[in-house]
Amino acid sequence: MTYRIAVLPGDGIGAEIVPQALRVLEAVGAKYGLSFTFTEGLIGGIAIDETGQPLPQETLELCRNSDAILLGAIGGPKWDNLPTHLRPEVGALLPLRKALGLYANIRPCRTYDALADASTLKKEVLAGTDMVIIRELTGGLYFGSKGRTDVDGVQQAWDTMIYSTPEIERIVRLAFETARHRRKKLCSVDKANVLESSRLWRETVNRLAPEYPDIAVTHMYVDNAAMQLIRNPGQFDVVVTENTFGDILSDQASMLSASLGMLASASLGGRVGLYEPAHGSAPDIAGQKKANPIATILSAAMMLEYSFNRVAEARAIEAAIEAVLAKGFRTGDIMEAGKRLVNTEEMTDRVLEEL
Ligand code: ATP
Ligand code: MG
Repeated sequence: MTYRIAVLPGDGIGAEIVPQALRVLEAVGAKYGLSFTFTEGLIGGIAIDETGQPLPQETLELCRNSDAILLGAIGGPKWDNLPTHLRPEVGALLPLRKALGLYANIRPCRTYDALADASTLKKEVLAGTDMVIIRELTGGLYFGSKGRTDVDGVQQAWDTMIYSTPEIERIVRLAFETARHRRKKLCSVDKANVLESSRLWRETVNRLAPEYPDIAVTHMYVDNAAMQLIRNPGQFDVVVTENTFGDILSDQASMLSASLGMLASASLGGRVGLYEPAHGSAPDIAGQKKANPIATILSAAMMLEYSFNRVAEARAIEAAIEAVLAKGFRTGDIMEAGKRLVNTEEMTDRVLEEL
């Protein structure tokens, strides 16, 4: 079986970490009899520099004609002051998600025993943290009608949080299915004590729940969820929430892993899934061979699992990473006294050895 992968390294450390994930995919392919074709495309700031567009038509076509997409990171200070529609995030990521129908962002977040001391949070609090946050990606405040008016000389601005039943149903079903493959717990996060869109969200979850009798469903207000994430993160298995709440909670949850450099993500919904590290282009360390490649390697593992149903292969990559961490190899972002500092490529070498 040959899988066609669109490879979009993007900006900053993207160009350093994406090739590392490709090395791991090649190695897993050789071991398990899968083959890949990797076709590179331009996206983000580098695409603006070379073509004038953050998401060139050619890149969009490449993505549409692939089986999955591996993205590095986009943006950086060089492109921050462009008009909004040309900025890498707005001009590339939002239209790409829209074009491919990627309505669900999946972010696993777990603690690694080997890294428990590298976190800013206490070991006892972090113990057993292993959750997936599922964020709705194409509705809510980001896409609802927005605008400004002048009322008797006073400026007003508004953004509308709007959700339809089908939009809620599809993301909630995906969350129930995800919970089925895990510890069978689903927590739906909303603000149903205040927001009408949240009341529809909660009604929809409750209406679908009887179809998934094996899943234990709870509801939590978003303010309480923010507190519980830090107080007792081990209580969560699958968390599902709307766009804005998910944006905030998933960045907050990233602190439960020792570093942003450890966190993978997937955007799903259409035929083609998009896989990328949760972190950005890290311009402060770009070009220095310091970047932690693990988030991107784990994103490639998610690709194998979610897009190609190659679960054993994904687990093998995760196990290799755990073994490397247990042996004490660390990139700078997760470095502690007494451990062995390695660069981006050496970290990948160690992962390949374990594989
Ligand atoms: P964006 O706006 O694109 O989300 P950001 O401002 O959130 O970007 P990042 O680019 O994610 O910032 O970087 C935040 C910090 O984390 C920086 O100090 C960066 O060096 C560090 N960092 C991010 N990714 C990695 C990585 N893979 N390895 C090591 N350090 C990283
Ligand atoms: Mg960020």
